[in-house]
Amino acid sequence: MPEKACSTCHLIVAGNVCPKCKTSTLSDDFSGVVIIFDPKGSAIAEVMKIKEKGRYALKVR
Ligand SMILES: [Zn+2]
Repeated sequence: MPEKACSTCHLIVAGNVCPKCKTSTLSDDFSGVVIIFDPKGSAIAEVMKIKEKGRYALKVR
């Protein structure tokens, strides 16, 4: 199953529903994967308002 990115929180998901938002507004047209290990210590996480570690897409169309 191809990975998709949630258009709400940008989390990369291998399914049809974002486990975080519980929504199905996912897009397979995303770019720039970032892996957040430490949301509190990451400038990217702060800019993207990411509170949990995981893999996220920088851009979701
Ligand atoms: Zn989401």
